[in-house]
Amino acid sequence: MSRNTTARIDLSALQHNFATVRRLAPDSRVASVVKADGYGHGIQRIARALPDSDLLAVATLGEAQSVRDSGWRGRLLLLEGYTGRNEFMWARKLDADFVLHHPSQLEILEANGCCSRQHVWLKLDTGMHRLGFPAREAASLLQRIARISGVHEPVLMTHFACADDTDNDMTREQAALFDQETQSLPGQRSLANSAAVLNFPETCRDIVRPGVMLYGISPIPGRVGSDHGLQPVMTLECQLLAVNACRAGDRVGYGATWVCPEDMLIGVAGIGYGDGYPRHLRSGAPVLVNGQPARLAGRVSMDLITLDLRGLDKAEVGDPVVLWGAGLPVETVAEWAGAIPYELICGVTGRVRRKSV
Ligand SMILES: *Cc1c(COP(=O)(O)O)cnc(C)c1O
Repeated sequence: MSRNTTARIDLSALQHNFATVRRLAPDSRVASVVKADGYGHGIQRIARALPDSDLLAVATLGEAQSVRDSGWRGRLLLLEGYTGRNEFMWARKLDADFVLHHPSQLEILEANGCCSRQHVWLKLDTGMHRLGFPAREAASLLQRIARISGVHEPVLMTHFACADDTDNDMTREQAALFDQETQSLPGQRSLANSAAVLNFPETCRDIVRPGVMLYGISPIPGRVGSDHGLQPVMTLECQLLAVNACRAGDRVGYGATWVCPEDMLIGVAGIGYGDGYPRHLRSGAPVLVNGQPARLAGRVSMDLITLDLRGLDKAEVGDPVVLWGAGLPVETVAEWAGAIPYELICGVTGRVRRKSV
């Protein structure tokens, strides 16, 4: 019997979410972020399903290659630019926009020159202290870049550390510093990720860079995608492989940590941490069996989980089990794993079949 462990990818939900971004940022271009295998959904299928994006954005050259191989001929952004001359040449071959965040990248660009109409993005650090030039260097960097022939006027960008929290002043402080240091400078601006599109619409500017919200997920703690009118794109599902009639006191799973409080049915479903269903999930984490709520009982194994089926009308081998997605927000499940939803969707392994619907 095949395991039928599947991530159903709802492309109409993806398109609905893209339209929601357009509605929330009506005056901005949209760089759809499809890094990390399209947040675990399959980068090529996601790239093909977002033809109205103004750009697609990725983190690595391998991802950029994959997007080009999918047939995308539009603008493609390398969010971390390139490392070394070989990657620089590869980026040019792919006709990708690249971010400049480090002096070594600028030196490679100066040493090698560029073809005509190369788009570059100048990343300014406004307080996150991850990637980017100090914002105060913006003017002098632009002058340096202007001397390189073939290079377009750079897009000025920064990235927010705390945009998921409306009460945190950091986003406003970062935006203010960005504006102060770039006030008199030419070029388009790009500041907002998903959280900023939702919480700080004034930061949307010329180009927004939404990722997680395209997949129907809220980046804001305590909220779920549907709170923002988003629809889940991935539904992770499997089947019941066994239903065991257990007695009060019977123990379930590795470590024998879960003890049946009464005579009851224990379901065994065909998914585990080998598929990316997190082992950190605590007993009691919600699942849907036949669309009805049930709970994880005991530890997650590599290939299997065990379920408390009390309260279900009926349960049989072959019945569908939803781990997250339609009907069960991944945001909720992530809380049971002490994780964020990004981790769960990116963590679905290659063993799980992705199926577009
Ligand atoms: C990943 C990434 C994004 C998208 O972030 P979400 O929280 O998924 O919207 C935007 N900008 C940069 C620079 C990123 O690395």
